[in-house]
Amino acid sequence: MKENLLRWSFPLFLQLAVCTFVTAQVVETTDVERIISTLAADDMRGRAALSPDIARAADFIAEEFRQARLQPYVEDNYRQTFEVTKVFTENESIKINGKALNVDEFIILNSNPNLSWNQDSEIEVMEIRAGDDFSERFRDIVRNNANHNIVWVDPSFAPMLARFKKIFSRENVIPKQASAADGPSKVFAIKKKNIKSFQVDASTIHEDFPLFNVAAVIPGKSKANEFVVFSAHYDHIGILDPVGKDSIANGADDDASGTTAMIALAKHFKKEDINERTLIFVAFTAEEIGMFGSKYFSNNIDADKVVAMINIEMIGKDSKFGPNTLYVTGYHHSNLAELMQENLKGTAFTFHPDPYPQQNLFYRSDNAVLAALGVPAHTFSTSQIDKDEYYHTVKDELSTLDIRNIKSSIEAIAKGVVGIITGEQTPSRVEKLTD
Ligand SMILES: [Zn+2]
Repeated sequence: MKENLLRWSFPLFLQLAVCTFVTAQVVETTDVERIISTLAADDMRGRAALSPDIARAADFIAEEFRQARLQPYVEDNYRQTFEVTKVFTENESIKINGKALNVDEFIILNSNPNLSWNQDSEIEVMEIRAGDDFSERFRDIVRNNANHNIVWVDPSFAPMLARFKKIFSRENVIPKQASAADGPSKVFAIKKKNIKSFQVDASTIHEDFPLFNVAAVIPGKSKANEFVVFSAHYDHIGILDPVGKDSIANGADDDASGTTAMIALAKHFKKEDINERTLIFVAFTAEEIGMFGSKYFSNNIDADKVVAMINIEMIGKDSKFGPNTLYVTGYHHSNLAELMQENLKGTAFTFHPDPYPQQNLFYRSDNAVLAALGVPAHTFSTSQIDKDEYYHTVKDELSTLDIRNIKSSIEAIAKGVVGIITGEQTPSRVEKLTD
C-alpha cells in the first residue's frame, strides 16, 4: 500500500521517465533468467547434438522466435536441417599367428564397410620402434601416408596405444557428402615375436543422422540483400560420467548463455524495427562435435552478402578484463569491434582483443568458416578458458553464472551494432584464407 501511494505521488514527468527507461531496456532480467534456465535445465540432458534431447532445445528456441513473430530462415518450424553420417566400427579383431590380441592392443582406423587383411594383402607394413616419438609417428602415418598400413608397435608403447584407442574408438561423424569409404585404412597393433601370419577384420557401419540449426530472420527495409548474422551454438556435450549424483553437463555458460543473448537480441531488434539490413539469428547445432551446424550454415549462404557476424560464446562470467567487458576473437582482423565501441561512447562498456591469442580461437569457433571467406565474423566472449575449471564438466550450471554479466553483454552488443544494422556503418572485410 505504501509503495502505491509513493508511486502515485511521483510527478507525472518522473513517471514518464521511468516508463521510457523500461521500454528502452534491451532485455528484462527475468527474461534472461527464464531463457537460460530453460536451456540449461536438467531435463534438456545436456543438449547433445546426436541425442534425441537436442530437439527439445530446438523446439524451445523456435517457439521463442515464433512468439516474437520473426520469420523462419528456411523451414516453417525455424529449422535448417541437414544430414551427417555417423561412422562406427563393429566386430573388430586381430589375430597374430592364430592368437587373438586384446582389444586394447590394437587400433583400427577404417571407414570401409568390410576390412579383411592378412599377410598376403597389398598393404604397406610399417613399424613404430622403441625410442620413437609415438604420438608424432602415429599422427604422421594417419595424416601423411596415403597407403593402407598395418603398423607394428613396439610393446614399450602398450600404455600409449591403449590410451589412443580410447580416443579413437569413439564414433566418428562426417559430413554426409563425403564419400566415407574413401581414404586409406590404418591398423596399429602391438608387435609380437615371429609374426608368420596375421588376420585383421573389422566392419564399419554408416548411419545418416539429421541435425538442425534453428534460425530466424528480420528482413531489412532498404538493404535486404546485406546480412548481419547473430549466432551462438545451442548444443552441448550431453551426459558424462557421474560426479557424485550429477551426470548432466548442463552447458549453462557453454553455450546456453550465448544462445540466450542471441534470442534476446532477436526479440529486441524485432521490437525496435530499425534495421535497414537483413538480420539473421541462428542457433548452431553440433559445435561440440566439429562445428557441423555453423559449417553447413556458412557454406549455404552467400558470404559476400554477409556484412558482419556476431557469434556469442560463453558470456556467463566476468572476463579477464572485469565487469562490463567482452573480448572479441580476431579483433584486429576487421574493424567491427572498433565500430561497435564507437557506438558505446558514454557507457562503461569496452570491447577488448582476445587475451588468448595462442589458443587461436578466431579459427576455432562457429565464426571460423565465414571469417575464412572474408566476412568480419567474430566471436564475442567473456570466458576465462585458461582457468575455468567448470568448462565441459557437469558443474557448468546456472548457479555458477552471473546473470548481470549476460545482460550487460546483450545490452552492449545491442547498442554497439546499431550503426551496422541501420546501414550507416560497414566493417572492413577479413582477409580471405582461400580464393
Ligand atoms: Zn561452446
